Amino acid sequence: MNRIAVAALSIALWCLGCGEAAAWGRDGHRVVGAIADIVLEQHPATQAKIRKLLGASLSEAATWADCAKGFTYCRRPPSAREAAYVGNNPHNHAYHYTDVPIQQTRYRLGSAGTSAEDIVQVSKYAIDVLRGVPARASDPAHLRPDEALWLLAHLVGDIHQPLHVGALYFDATCRKPVDPNKTGRAPDFGIGARFADTTGGNDLLLRGGETNLHHYWDDVVVLHAAGLSAKTELDVQRFARQLLANPPLGTAPQGDAATWPEAWATEILPLAREALDRVMIVDRRRMEAPTLKCRWHVSHDQAYADWAAQRTAEQLAKAGHRLAALMVALLGP
Ligand SMILES: [Zn+2]
Repeated sequence: MNRIAVAALSIALWCLGCGEAAAWGRDGHRVVGAIADIVLEQHPATQAKIRKLLGASLSEAATWADCAKGFTYCRRPPSAREAAYVGNNPHNHAYHYTDVPIQQTRYRLGSAGTSAEDIVQVSKYAIDVLRGVPARASDPAHLRPDEALWLLAHLVGDIHQPLHVGALYFDATCRKPVDPNKTGRAPDFGIGARFADTTGGNDLLLRGGETNLHHYWDDVVVLHAAGLSAKTELDVQRFARQLLANPPLGTAPQGDAATWPEAWATEILPLAREALDRVMIVDRRRMEAPTLKCRWHVSHDQAYADWAAQRTAEQLAKAGHRLAALMVALLGP
């Protein structure tokens, strides 16, 4: 089963018992967009350009790349513009992540788990589109300027979620963590043949398989970061202003904007390593599948939950500030 099928199944299973919990997934992206919207109140010319291109705020548009995939949290079918984007970008599901082994210290295109259409490469391409760089045959996607804008509003959020960047791989026994770069060869480095992929944490099952570590970081931790319990509706604007009041250090990007996505992917690797190292694997099973495939049952303690909530608050704030900085760099006067 490919990554999307696994993710879709996980969401479906997870939501059987959680009712309104399907709404959680949108919160992280909306908070990132809302922080950027508030920061951009100080940059009215940039904000006006965004409004003109999108016909919406960054907070609203930050979820469209997921809504285009038919995510249930959107509570509506894909819009005409989302459907058109998917029509021109059949690989859009790959744009949201990269899978750099957590043993690595930096993102390097061509190494195990990266691809020409991963989150770093597509973000760089979207930056080119907004700068008016003419299309090339090697482009990883086909985006109009408005699509490049709403895709960036989403991907800047995703690239600050550790399990969208750092990945854990195991050997064929599903027991020993490995870095496929060490003995694997390009293009696939033996992933799916000699090495098993945890698919961004989707195959690291929590609570007996009711949910998984990817969705824990995507959804559950966002509410914990806001000091809320699972069944509460998040006040996005309020949480965004709360995060703005405590800006994280080391947020301002340096140098050319085209280098930022790669720098952000490299920066988050230690956090991904800790997020994956600190969970306890309680059980593992090799699956019957044409490729090498495992499932792991994992658990974590309250200290992990508190730590993850704290780090998530920082990551959301960073992403919001950096999205605003990217908008000023690309669309500012
Ligand atoms: Zn995404």
